[in-house]
Amino acid sequence: MDIVYRFDPHDPIQHKVPRSNREALKFLELGNDRYHAMAERIQEIATGKRDHSPMIVPVNPLQLGIPIVAGLEQAHAPYALVLGCSDARAPIERILDCTANDVFVVRVAGNVLGVECLGSIDYAVTVLRSSLQSVLVMGHTQCGAVAAAVDLYLRPSSFGDIAFSHAVRSLTDRILLSVRNAARGLETSLGAKVQKHKRYREWLTTTSCFLNAAVTAYDLQREVNSLTKGLHVSYSVYDMAWTRMGALPQRSKKEAEGTPRFAAAPESAKDFDNLVESITHRLV
Ligand SMILES: [Zn+2]
Repeated sequence: MDIVYRFDPHDPIQHKVPRSNREALKFLELGNDRYHAMAERIQEIATGKRDHSPMIVPVNPLQLGIPIVAGLEQAHAPYALVLGCSDARAPIERILDCTANDVFVVRVAGNVLGVECLGSIDYAVTVLRSSLQSVLVMGHTQCGAVAAAVDLYLRPSSFGDIAFSHAVRSLTDRILLSVRNAARGLETSLGAKVQKHKRYREWLTTTSCFLNAAVTAYDLQREVNSLTKGLHVSYSVYDMAWTRMGALPQRSKKEAEGTPRFAAAPESAKDFDNLVESITHRLV
């Protein structure tokens, strides 16, 4: 299959810029739609369900980071800030089909907030505020950092290498709050016997991935509020199996299509309780 990036200098596409949080999230949603559509197209070709006709992608050179006139650089003006995981399977700009100068990206294993992360975020919120319309915490399914925190929670004596590494523990310690809340939520929804279920670790990891993104969004919203007004933080989890972003787990194509892509950062303990209930409802 050929994917052709086409620039027509006589009819260049306009590079639109969102002007609100709502518009910015819509841009990111449409970007993930394009990425998902490309994934589906490739899968249909691979299984012989459609022909190999080329896929044409119109581009503007600025979107590729190329100045139209040599020697001129663009002003730094991202419309969104995305805090995501370092996982190599979750490339943020590709999944959201963003182009150069669209998103200010901070990546750290487990998408947790550390001092250096906050420094980058504070810089963006302060210096790039005029263009910045939205902040997104982007987790992903099958997150290794979250799985490590889950294993530390379930079998602390078996994971000494992690437990005794100060550097790694600085990540897992931040995720353990979400793991404990996920465990409590699973027990509340499914009863204490859930711990014996053969899929308990899988359910605990998935629930923790969503809760961890939500907890980070909660913390980040408070940080952002201390720096500026009117900048909203949302969260979402990239589902690697379905190539879609979602605010809740997606077990099927039909369910994925009805799942909201983003959710606003929780504001209270009640919001977290409702979130755990919604996640566990979708797991079983
Ligand atoms: Zn991860």
